[in-house]
Amino acid sequence: MAATDDRASVAPTRLVILGWPVRHALSPIMQAAALRHAGIAVEYQRCEVASADLDAVLAGLTRERAGGNVTIPHKKAVAARVDRCTVVAERVGAVNTFWVDDGCLIGHNTDVAGATVTIRALVANKADAASDTPVVVLGAGGASAATLVALHDLGFRDIAVVARTVARAHALVDRVAVDARVVAVTGADDVIARAGLVINATPVGLLDDAMPIPVGALRPDAAVFDLVYRPGQTSWVRACRLAGHRAEDGIRMLVEQGAAAFEAWFGVAAPRNAMWSAVGAVPPVNGQTSA
Ligand code: NAP
Repeated sequence: MAATDDRASVAPTRLVILGWPVRHALSPIMQAAALRHAGIAVEYQRCEVASADLDAVLAGLTRERAGGNVTIPHKKAVAARVDRCTVVAERVGAVNTFWVDDGCLIGHNTDVAGATVTIRALVANKADAASDTPVVVLGAGGASAATLVALHDLGFRDIAVVARTVARAHALVDRVAVDARVVAVTGADDVIARAGLVINATPVGLLDDAMPIPVGALRPDAAVFDLVYRPGQTSWVRACRLAGHRAEDGIRMLVEQGAAAFEAWFGVAAPRNAMWSAVGAVPPVNGQTSA
């Protein structure tokens, strides 16, 4: 599949978020606030789609010259169905943002941009921090893929993917072509104990107070990035901060992936402050976010 430009040449006529379910997604309120703030008269709607209906829905959206976002469980399926992927979407193998150019459906991935901004903030933007910092990424799904691409492009070279299903992690590392070791969850104590940055790309902690890794198992100066977000922070982020770790949940990634999508659709700077307030959070103060 040929790679393509990461900006729409014409703004979408309307926007949707495709997923199943999508009723809890924050993107509609966040993008509606951005559109209002920017004075753009385009609607952003939830679109709950079963896998069996995906082809028909995408064909209809293409005819309408609509654009939008994609969430669980359709990110990989949409990547396989678009006419063209941007370079980054092709690398990740997943699409979270799309638009129509010249009658062709274009798939893009802005999760990488969201992860990049968060990781950069956590390592305090130090140019030399990346190459010196051992990183552990927990999980081997789509979010892990985007995070691995972000880490690689930021210059991290000592990366371990800690996974429950090791075969899935090997396939992921091969697919994104990032030089990373794969370690089974059951044998990961040492790799976790030496990591300077630990990233949770599993859903652990999304629905309860479970912690992906006990705080006591972390290196005392390790930074922590939990892709999961909940009102008032995840329990893991709260516990890590209490123990003195620099820790971020996934809210900055959510806002930044949304801002990058907005900029790809409309070619103007996204009103980030409006997007932060819409999701009930405040923009980072002294580099760290709060809910
Ligand atoms: P996914 O494709 O389903 O992958 C989830 C990964 O987590 C899989 O490797 C899975 O292991 C592993 N996993 C699930 N439960 C686990 C457990 N109890 N213990 C250990 N590993 C476990 O999901 P995804 O799309 O990558 O998303 C993962 C999470 O990232 C989501 O829940 C979401 O909260 C978060 N996320 C946040 C943002 C953001 O903008 N902040 C964006 C995307 C995703 P198996 O392979 O063994 O099943």
